Amino acid sequence: MEILYKSTRGNGETVTASQAILKGLADDGGLFVPTQVPALDVPVEKLAEMSYQEVAYEVMSRFFSDFTEEELKHCINSAYDSKFDTKEIAPIREADGAFYLELFHGATIAFKDMALSILPHLMITSARKNQIKNDIVILTATSGDTGKAALAGFADVPGTKIIVFYPKDGVSPIQKAQMVTQRGTNTHVVAINGNFDDAQTGVKKMFNDKALAAELAEAGYQFSSANSINIGRLIPQVAYYVYAYAQLVKKGELNVGDPLRVVVPTGNFGNILAAYYAKQMGVAIEKLICASNENKVLFDFFTTGTYDRKREFILTTSPSMDILISSNLERLIYQIAGSDEEKNRELMRELSENGAYTITDEMKAHLKDFAGGYATEEQTAQTIHDLYEKTGYVIDTHTSVAATVCKAYNAEHADGIKTLIASTASPYKFTRSVMNAIDPKYDDMTDFELIDELSVLSKTKIPQAIEDIRSAPVLHKTVAEVDGMEAAVKAFLQVK
Ligand SMILES: *Cc1c(COP(=O)(O)O)cnc(C)c1O
Repeated sequence: MEILYKSTRGNGETVTASQAILKGLADDGGLFVPTQVPALDVPVEKLAEMSYQEVAYEVMSRFFSDFTEEELKHCINSAYDSKFDTKEIAPIREADGAFYLELFHGATIAFKDMALSILPHLMITSARKNQIKNDIVILTATSGDTGKAALAGFADVPGTKIIVFYPKDGVSPIQKAQMVTQRGTNTHVVAINGNFDDAQTGVKKMFNDKALAAELAEAGYQFSSANSINIGRLIPQVAYYVYAYAQLVKKGELNVGDPLRVVVPTGNFGNILAAYYAKQMGVAIEKLICASNENKVLFDFFTTGTYDRKREFILTTSPSMDILISSNLERLIYQIAGSDEEKNRELMRELSENGAYTITDEMKAHLKDFAGGYATEEQTAQTIHDLYEKTGYVIDTHTSVAATVCKAYNAEHADGIKTLIASTASPYKFTRSVMNAIDPKYDDMTDFELIDELSVLSKTKIPQAIEDIRSAPVLHKTVAEVDGMEAAVKAFLQVK
């Protein structure tokens, strides 16, 4: 069955999956959504015997129906390989009555690797399928984590180049070390004398510069973005929820058809939306629990039906969830509005003009598959502490937000339904917050002392991503002024 994609704000025009991946965002500013969510017509018993890569193929082939089997398998096998430190790719660990789906075994030890390791391959395949001969040049402005995950994903992928701009004094020392040690002849990392907004604005300007695009085309290049709203990032995330359910059946924890509760630490709403797609494909997910930190705009939305971004922005120990506009939520809004582009456009206009919108009662009734919860900073630290004391298992701050919400929800719903928690980062990525939660005595140690200590205490090996920062040579030393960004791009691409 062919699945096409249309914009959440468009006029109903459709594009193929490969075209949607190439475009990223629709021309009208909307997000691409599948015209229908395909059914997963493979028995769970069969999925339970498959490898991660095989399950990923079953899921992605349903959504990316214009890719050939050979193309898609090549993308999957190039993505989920030895860059991951376990053959299982996304292993499940049980602790204190919940199942943790560990999505942090890739190159940058956080869940964005699950999508960013395959996106470059999907993009370059999409380009060739659509007779685009140019090399794809990814431009990214980063405040830290996404830049590194994108660099790791695109490094040495033939037909692609990636240029990442970061604010010189606006990322953590570890984040900076991760980026400037990036290998790959097609990678370029540039420090900007400016803040994140300057970098972001500079990148947007280059994307919209028609003269620059023409110059690049002449030299055989075209720009693209690795933005989190690309369906080439969203759909690969559906795979691990299908895999997790099948693995729990294989382990005898679930019988086929048993309900599974899924709790997701949420920021941009991509990860939890992928779980919702898995449910719509036929996976027996009982409820999707959206867990927020103190920036609880989504919790308020799920409890009141009003989305209101007009509030103080709080810096928390789970920074990847410090978000007031969850861009992927638009896909859910569109769906619960009955795929009504008009209605969605109206709500998104209210959001950009007034900073808030309220959905109708009818739309709200369609949210029954979801529940929202949130965790305070204190609770988040307490959960890390308590879980470690009780089981020896150490989780990161983002995962702890979900674990905290999970515990409260299950206490209120003592129905014995098994729970899967999306574990989105390795504790080694947020070592200081994690160790401080376990014991305040660690306060005086340096970052690397803390890492060694975490290894001892959690009885886990220090991930390669961390070892790399300790020892790898600095390969990127370019610094540019804000108005020198374009020159930096041209110099790297040797244009003119
Ligand atoms: C990006 C991120 C999240 C939030 O995921 P969304 O898909 O944006 O909701 C949660 N935890 C970590 C560690 C992340 O990097």
